[in-house]
Amino acid sequence: NEGIGSWPARRARKTPHRTALIHQRTDGHRSFSYADLHDRSTRLAHVLHARGVRRGDRVAHLGPNHPSFLETLFASGLLGAVFVPLNTRLAMPEIAYQLADSGARILIHHPSVHGTTDNAPGTTLTTALDLLEVGPDYEAALAAAPAATIDEPVSPDDVCIIMYTSGTTGRPKGAMLTHANLVWNAVNVLIDQDLAADERALVSAPLFHTAGLNMLTLPVLLKGGTCVLVESFDPDSTFDLVEEHRITFMFGVPTMYDLMARHPRWPTADLSTMRHLSCGGAPVPTGLIETYQRRGLTFQQGYGMTEAAPGTLFLAAEHSVAKAGTAGVPHFFSDVAVVGPDGEPVPVGELGEVQVRGPHVMPGYWGLPAESAEAFRDGWFRTGDMARVDADGFVSIVDRLKDMIISGGENIYPAEVEDALLAHPDVVECAVIGVGDARWGEVPRAVVVVRDDAKAEPEEILASLTGRLAKYKIPKSLVVAAELPRTASGKLVKPRVRALYGTQDS
Ligand code: AMP
Ligand code: MG
Repeated sequence: NEGIGSWPARRARKTPHRTALIHQRTDGHRSFSYADLHDRSTRLAHVLHARGVRRGDRVAHLGPNHPSFLETLFASGLLGAVFVPLNTRLAMPEIAYQLADSGARILIHHPSVHGTTDNAPGTTLTTALDLLEVGPDYEAALAAAPAATIDEPVSPDDVCIIMYTSGTTGRPKGAMLTHANLVWNAVNVLIDQDLAADERALVSAPLFHTAGLNMLTLPVLLKGGTCVLVESFDPDSTFDLVEEHRITFMFGVPTMYDLMARHPRWPTADLSTMRHLSCGGAPVPTGLIETYQRRGLTFQQGYGMTEAAPGTLFLAAEHSVAKAGTAGVPHFFSDVAVVGPDGEPVPVGELGEVQVRGPHVMPGYWGLPAESAEAFRDGWFRTGDMARVDADGFVSIVDRLKDMIISGGENIYPAEVEDALLAHPDVVECAVIGVGDARWGEVPRAVVVVRDDAKAEPEEILASLTGRLAKYKIPKSLVVAAELPRTASGKLVKPRVRALYGTQDS
């Protein structure tokens, strides 16, 4: 097995007694050595196999940061099956869509998300979906399963994960990441962040997003370090955990670091064990960089995307002051080109679209050959982000071609929200834009044109989205407009909507 399913066995051969995972709960924590991780992943692979999971089948997981997430990933990898992590913040119809689209055979789920097996997501959608609930059922299944080695042929180019990411049109698309994609990304992180074997990582960023899994957890496990898994982020417990576990490495989106810096404990919290403070997924405000710099803490910043597994550009700590505001240079095994509409690189200082190529870039989207072909140009993945390159080759991300809002680390594509708004009987037309927010960076705002005889109040229109869309996607404000700006051909002019409605208070 040349896939990442073999990692626990390989680690258990070298460092069986080192701690791989610490599962932190409110009432204490439980540690798992590499030998434990190997044993549990192997047993889970037997459980999955006994339930019919074979090479190429999809195995979904719905739950918070928890050992079951990584066990499911490695167990699927042992069988050559494909792991499908689901975002716990999604509403039930959104989860149902991803389960159906991926054709998952089994869902491993936590009762804390959308209820227990009796009313779990799968029960309402397809009878073909098998369910395994994490808790006593899961533990009993592992205990009853054999611990014998599983030896399925898995090659580096087999698909390892399908990770859903939204787009400017249509439903979320499943980015297929191969074993090789994940390995090369982890290698890039190990090289560029210079991670050590004694790293102790705080994993409070969600594992179901590419950053928490690929920029933090997998590189640390490859190297033989320890990951402390926390179910959700809050600044107060972060300070406690950093002290308790002598954390050396954490990854966060800017919102998380901002909440820490504004917390009353910020001046006195002991962060002296921290070696790598990694930040990415959204532009990092320079004020935040300076706040951390003042106490000797330097960010390592990254830019990437789900489709690139995700590490693409990286600003190492040594350049973080001189090149503040840039996203750095490409990772070691990554190539980035900033190109004009003709696909040719633009001169220094000029605006172009970011393209990325490398062994970490996905082969395509699950079940979408046309969209996959369109996403690439001559072997380069087109990111839809606009940037400039300076004379030293440092890239500054300046804007997004794609119509996307980044809110507290979650990406929101307006098309999905607009679709849901249009389902309301009073809404004739709508546009969703991002407006600046001190806490979340950006939050969505709806601009709607309502029917003349509309009965619903703005709050009722927004309330109609509850249960249909994840909470973070639901607009925080709604403006009723007489009409929306359109071109002669009827196309909505989003920049004009932003100019008209993006700044006013609502
Ligand atoms: P996702 O596919 O959901 O992982 O989101 C990837 C997108 O997030 C990128 O294409 C960018 O638009 C945005 N993004 C990620 N990192 C950064 C960053 N450091 N600065 C600005 N935008 C970023
Ligand atoms: Mg994306």
